[in-house]
Amino acid sequence: MKAGILALQGAFREHREVLDALGAEVVEVRLPQHLAGIDAIVLPGGESTTIERLLGTSGLRGPLSGVLAEGLPALATCAGLILLATEVRDGRPDQDPLAVIDCAVRRNGYGRQRESFEVPLDVRGLHGGPFPGVFIRAPVIERTGPAVEVLAEHAGDPVLARQGALVVATFHPELAGDMRLHQWFLNEVS
Ligand code: GLN
Repeated sequence: MKAGILALQGAFREHREVLDALGAEVVEVRLPQHLAGIDAIVLPGGESTTIERLLGTSGLRGPLSGVLAEGLPALATCAGLILLATEVRDGRPDQDPLAVIDCAVRRNGYGRQRESFEVPLDVRGLHGGPFPGVFIRAPVIERTGPAVEVLAEHAGDPVLARQGALVVATFHPELAGDMRLHQWFLNEVS
């Protein structure tokens, strides 16, 4: 299993540590040619507007959209989810997501009082008890399309969902000290 990690900005090192520990062959993706031969890609959290700008300057935007549209499996967390959504609310006026997963997300949707928090999440299909959900200026998924399956919720909103091979989380599984979600993703895509 050769797993790419979009390594332009944000929490890519933490994802790398988990994937390394799970025995995946990891490729840091910074240029279009790094997409060649990968079996899946992780899109980390960070700052969605910055990552989007760097996707443009690196030349990755078109090629990444292309491989995702062709079915490359992806695990997108937090800002990574914002990049993939069809609709971004409270985005920057020029924010232009790749629009490959049918959902609307509101940036920083949990508000100032709850900028960062941790809650146990019941994840459908994940054994071994609740998963620690680490939320950092997380987006709220406010709408999901009919092709989107919700795998976990918090306070009535989806926090983990999938559309085919695209898995999106509003929280940071790479910071949870729990590798089950990455392991599950690798199992699903291999
Ligand atoms: N609020 C950030 C954004 O809009 C996302 C935060 C994160 O990825 N932890 O890009």
